[in-house]
Amino acid sequence: MSNPDASPAGPIISVAGVNKWYGAFQVLTDVSLSVAKGEKVVICGPSGSGKSTLIRCLNQLEQHQEGSIVVDGIELGKSESAAQAVRREVGMVFQHFNLFPHLDLVQNCVLAPMSVRGMSRRAAEALAVRLLERVRLGEHAHKYPSQLSGGQQQRAAIARALCMEPRVMLFDEPTSALDPEMVGEVLDTMRGLAAEGMTMMIVTHEMGFARQVADRVVFMDRGQIVEQAPPAAFFGAPVHERTRRFLSQVL
Ligand code: ADP
Ligand code: MG
Repeated sequence: MSNPDASPAGPIISVAGVNKWYGAFQVLTDVSLSVAKGEKVVICGPSGSGKSTLIRCLNQLEQHQEGSIVVDGIELGKSESAAQAVRREVGMVFQHFNLFPHLDLVQNCVLAPMSVRGMSRRAAEALAVRLLERVRLGEHAHKYPSQLSGGQQQRAAIARALCMEPRVMLFDEPTSALDPEMVGEVLDTMRGLAAEGMTMMIVTHEMGFARQVADRVVFMDRGQIVEQAPPAAFFGAPVHERTRRFLSQVL
């Protein structure tokens, strides 16, 4: 099969005609989506619409049954080696930070670069310190997660993902578990990453952030992509009734 993603000008993520079921329940229906290198795509939609499932398919935390997903030239679902390869390319940040509680921030950050990329401890620690500084946690590098606020822990989780030097970053409701006063610092960190040109797919209900940062907003409902448009059009003139109803609830 020809692979358009192998060309540098092609999309870095290409999802085409994807269907997925959990048992008898169809969670994704004919989902197609392309993301260009450097593009920032925000995914929104009601709870249960399949947003997490879609982005978890992109790094093979979940597997689709039909259709094709190609990430950075790697066709997913064909082999376990494809799954391993894509996890090296794609960083993921979850709602719950999933930091290891018994390790300080630096040691949280060095695990994957050492085990997956074969970096030496010394090189991995130097990288970890540099990336913790970049998310403004340099002075907390040797603290444990429990000694930090939720916002600091989520910034550490972003630094940990960046330590794999990913080509794409996926975020699944990264601020939903945070106290309101900590949301801004995490969104600021994400804005910084966006400004540096990272390709990002972000599930979020932060519509102000979507308006500022997204190149495109995708609305999902009941396992389908209902509508996608640049933020000005998406928020200013949503086409579908379901989109309008959703926006009236979150804006
Ligand atoms: P969202 O992130 O948009 O809230 P999800 O992708 O988490 O939606 O879930 C979509 C639907 O799939 C929901 O109805 C959810 O209950 C169901 N679902 C999610 N994960 C599983 C699973 N592992 N097994 C069965 N059903 C699941
Ligand atoms: Mg979800």
